[in-house]
Amino acid sequence: MRVCIVCEKDVEGKRAVPVKEDRVIRLVRAAKRLVGIAKMNDLYVCEADLPKHSERRKGFEKSMLFASVLAALLLVLVLGMIVLSGNFEVWSLVSAFVIAGFVLVLPLFKYTPAVEATALPPEPPALFQPVNPPPVPPQPLAPSNLRPAGKTARKKRKSR
Ligand SMILES: [Zn+2]
Repeated sequence: MRVCIVCEKDVEGKRAVPVKEDRVIRLVRAAKRLVGIAKMNDLYVCEADLPKHSERRKGFEKSMLFASVLAALLLVLVLGMIVLSGNFEVWSLVSAFVIAGFVLVLPLFKYTPAVEATALPPEPPALFQPVNPPPVPPQPLAPSNLRPAGKTARKKRKSR
């Protein structure tokens, strides 16, 4: 079934944009298959939900960016502290990585997949719909094409 991921309705017969299959979607599908609740729907965003969806997607992208910057800062800070203090502790390094990983995973709670296109192609204008040509009246048969039958036989020349 083709389903809109925003309103969770069937998009059959409606204009909709397909969702990009990314790592998160593949991961969720694999997990669902393992548990046995996979529905194998094709994911779409219907025309009506497109503005709402792209708004959400923008918010998600921003929080992903924020999280990765924060995680990187955390790691740099901890590494810098280790270098400055001069005594290396495995535990502080491990905890820094754990916290950075946690920060990176947090935005996934409002995960919003990308779509193939942010806008639907415009509908073809009705003005240029092909008009049926007027019916052509049947042409009378050209008389030149008609030849009386039986005249093609060659006349035998009588000798003597
Ligand atoms: Zn929808």
